Amino acid sequence: MILLLKRFFPSEYVDSINHINYKKLYEEGYRGILFDVDNTLVPYDMEHPTKQIIDLFEEIKEIGFEIALVSNNNEVRITTFNEKLQVLAIHKALKPMTRNIKRAMQSLKLKKKNTILVGDQIFTDIYGGNRLKLKTILVVPISEKEQLITKIKRNTEKKILNYYLKKVKKNDSKN
Ligand SMILES: [Mg+2]
Repeated sequence: MILLLKRFFPSEYVDSINHINYKKLYEEGYRGILFDVDNTLVPYDMEHPTKQIIDLFEEIKEIGFEIALVSNNNEVRITTFNEKLQVLAIHKALKPMTRNIKRAMQSLKLKKKNTILVGDQIFTDIYGGNRLKLKTILVVPISEKEQLITKIKRNTEKKILNYYLKKVKKNDSKN
């Protein structure tokens, strides 16, 4: 069973793209990083990269990495998102099919042994990368994190509201 599932296992599992030790990976011999876009870099509905991502990409490039966006999303989405990043960007990549992952690697002159694929989905990103024997890094999908934050907020809201209602009731009964 484990053997069958192994193809879906990432090499690493981290909280977000900010929790990857890029310097260490470069020292280990890796030279290229292929990033998924939606829910890996930004939520689906965010058209442009945040300043944090623009800065992070600069940092990663300064270390010496080649970067590409490899997304299953459409041309408009990916072209727009790449406006401020200006890296190699492949849309409609059809991950977990390997053809377009390979295409990105060829364009950047990368080899299997020095390429990392980063994404939030096991059956597209991780499986696709594993099929090529790349190093694969799974991140927690950004939307799930947002949902968690929303949940915490809702809970806090509820507490405040309960507190408020109690107080109001008390005051009401006084009058
Ligand atoms: Mg994704």
